[in-house]
Amino acid sequence: MINFVENKNPMPSQDPNVRNKNFVEVTSGYTDKMAINEAMRCLQCRDKPCTGGCPVLVKIPEFIAQVAKGEFEEAFQIIGTTNSLPAVCGRVCPQENQCEGECVRGKDGEPVAIGRLERFVADWHRDHFGDIKDQPTKANGHKAAIVGSGPAGLACAGDLIVEGYDVTVFESLHKEGGVLAYGIPEFRLPKSIVQMEVDKLADKGVKFVKDAVVGKIFSVDELLNEGYESVFVGTGAGLPRFMNMPGENLLGVYSANEYLTRINLMKAYKAEYDTPIKVNKNVAVIGGGNVAMDSARCAKRMGAENVYIVYRRSMDEIPARKEEIEHAIEEGIIFKLLNNPVQVIGDDKKYVTGLECVEMELGEPDASGRRRPIEKKGSNFVLDVDAVIVSIGTNLNKLILETTENLEANKNGGIGASDDDGVTSNPAVFAGGDAVTGAATVILAMGAGKKAAAGMISYMENK
Ligand code: FAD
Ligand code: SF4
Ligand code: SF4
Repeated sequence: MINFVENKNPMPSQDPNVRNKNFVEVTSGYTDKMAINEAMRCLQCRDKPCTGGCPVLVKIPEFIAQVAKGEFEEAFQIIGTTNSLPAVCGRVCPQENQCEGECVRGKDGEPVAIGRLERFVADWHRDHFGDIKDQPTKANGHKAAIVGSGPAGLACAGDLIVEGYDVTVFESLHKEGGVLAYGIPEFRLPKSIVQMEVDKLADKGVKFVKDAVVGKIFSVDELLNEGYESVFVGTGAGLPRFMNMPGENLLGVYSANEYLTRINLMKAYKAEYDTPIKVNKNVAVIGGGNVAMDSARCAKRMGAENVYIVYRRSMDEIPARKEEIEHAIEEGIIFKLLNNPVQVIGDDKKYVTGLECVEMELGEPDASGRRRPIEKKGSNFVLDVDAVIVSIGTNLNKLILETTENLEANKNGGIGASDDDGVTSNPAVFAGGDAVTGAATVILAMGAGKKAAAGMISYMENK
């Protein structure tokens, strides 16, 4: 029976004025009944446009049909044929531009809540079968190395280990997960979910070597000489970008990556951790993407009274996910739109005391297709803040490119790799995720890791 209600079943979530003071997950997920009710909104379209909108082609109508019948484990198995991180993707995928963006129910009301259903199914499986340990797979005698344990590296490791490869993942940080661990905050993606995915891979036999910066302690070429037949590079794009404006070296200016790493990876929000972080009263976050929203919402939870998003265009151009913007507004984040920072102001002890901004207006579209922001002469003003978080994007770290023989860059400065199978200019080296594309999404990184695993298998079998 189809449920013709126009809107999605609402997601249960914490009250904004309560959640903006804690790091507990904002939304608590559908109940069984809500999930079945939402699944019944699916029309089971024969041409499956929703699946076409998913970068890893999740069998959406098929898994939703099982949810509608209350067959949740069946649904999990169907998702698992193409997506190894459904609990993560169900929470953080930009569904509105992907699967849900293509859903026909969206033409006349809201699309089916595909992401929420995917999360529900993954959480249901964890609650009922999470304690069952995966068994080590039968070794096939081939050895492969993976550099970086973000979604690209984890997906690649997952596909190699099930085929019997001896897989070692080298990670520069003291915790696995990449951005899932150090960037996306606990209140959007609980770290226990990321850890469970890592543990599942370890149960199957994947070895994780942490605190290992490849390119410093040993190179990709040394890994190849030491018996790894193929190497996947999934090192992400974590090098912070700054505005290059006066005052950016003052005390109280953070890159978003540093700020989020202190809070998420090094748990500065927990009293039992010694991670140093100052509780600021007024915080300006420069930028309008997901990273800026995460930084602003973290600053609020850390105790700031006023948190401003300073963005040079308008709400129509802001790149963050709609849901994240709505959550930020509900939590009391103040949007200073059409404002561009000019300089950070400090006191004689070099501590931040303000952010000078100038008002902007929008002109003709630029090369990105978005209307170009133009400065309104003489409209400068100072925002009274004691911390500034710069969140205007990241660059690729060149370490692996500079320390690996015959590894060529692509035109964006990332590692040059084939879209089809991730192979680079060195036939034994594969790459994927943000290290190739620049900052993108979890699901695209995961898809790239899976394609590269197929490429590596073909290379190792045929060499
Ligand atoms: P990463 O996740 O960056 O992982 C790379 C790993 O490689 C890291 O662990 C790093 O420590 C390690 N590494 C780097 N160099 C070396 C080396 N030399 N040796 C060993 N290890 C190394 N995407 C979404 O889809 N939805 C969201 O809501 C979303 N929110 C985001 C919020 C934040 C704060 C950030 C920063 C990003 C967000 N993204 C989001 C983007 C998404 O997280 C990334 O596109 C994705 O994580 C890229 O995966 P990856 O595996 O390529 O790289
Ligand atoms: Fe949608 Fe992401 Fe799931 Fe694909 S993986 S179906 S894009 S939520
Ligand atoms: Fe269901 Fe929407 Fe996919 Fe149609 S497009 S099958 S309604 S999820």
